[in-house]
Amino acid sequence: TIIVKVGGSAGIDYDAVCADIAQLWKAGQRLVLVHGGSGETNRVAEALGHPPKFVTSPSGYTSRFTDRETLEIFEMVYCGKINKGIVERLQKLGVNAVGLSGLDGRIFEGRHKDSVRSVENGKVKVLRGDHTGTVEQVNVGLIELLLGAGYLPVLTPPAASYEGVAINVDGDRAAAALAVAMKADALLLLSNVPGLLRNFPDESSLIASIPAADVESYLEFAQDRMKKKVLGAAEAVSGGVQRVIFGDARAGQPVSAALAGAGTVVS
Ligand code: ADP
Repeated sequence: TIIVKVGGSAGIDYDAVCADIAQLWKAGQRLVLVHGGSGETNRVAEALGHPPKFVTSPSGYTSRFTDRETLEIFEMVYCGKINKGIVERLQKLGVNAVGLSGLDGRIFEGRHKDSVRSVENGKVKVLRGDHTGTVEQVNVGLIELLLGAGYLPVLTPPAASYEGVAINVDGDRAAAALAVAMKADALLLLSNVPGLLRNFPDESSLIASIPAADVESYLEFAQDRMKKKVLGAAEAVSGGVQRVIFGDARAGQPVSAALAGAGTVVS
């Protein structure tokens, strides 16, 4: 089984990703797709008069502050527009895809974190009313049920908290938890960059390979959101996933190319 996570940033070619996935799926490759939607969520949130708020933790990680209204906008975009857009593309290509969020059947489950520490003007503030968390449990049974019956699962945040409340979780780390739980052969994290760059945004500075034991030491090259991908990769390999690849989803055959070794290969 391979887990493909495709991001939600500008430039990602969903048509190319879906065409490639359809081809692999028809050739018999077991596959689960996880997607993001942050770029579109930012646009819709602005348009609805509730602009996105990002917080940076004292350790340097950036995340979306998700109050109730933001969570509802997040669901409209991730579970609605993006998820159904991908399912529709796959259906058109003759693949019987089923789109579900982590809330459905508690596919992704974790602890609800209500407050977040945020660094603002050099001071640490505590913000409450956050609907976020980290995936700790995966309902593998439901995914296996779908795969076994011939359906391609297309998954997206949010996750369910243990109390059954929707929580915003990082898609890369959710995909990593899924890859570990499913004992996947490979986890592909596809985005709008060629891979992990030594000197972002210089695309000629691509890091081609990273030894599995050293992933965390590469956190220093990743800024802001890329940090979550490197963290996800570290979690996946330490959980037994053989290969994690940071690949380019902007054109061509993004999944096949990454499987063939394009991008940054962690192994
Ligand atoms: P997605 O939504 O596609 O999953 P993110 O926007 O969360 O992707 O993360 C990818 C982004 O991380 C890139 O578009 C880039 O702006 C940023 N980035 C920061 N540091 C690096 C780096 N060292 N190499 C590549 N990308 C980086």
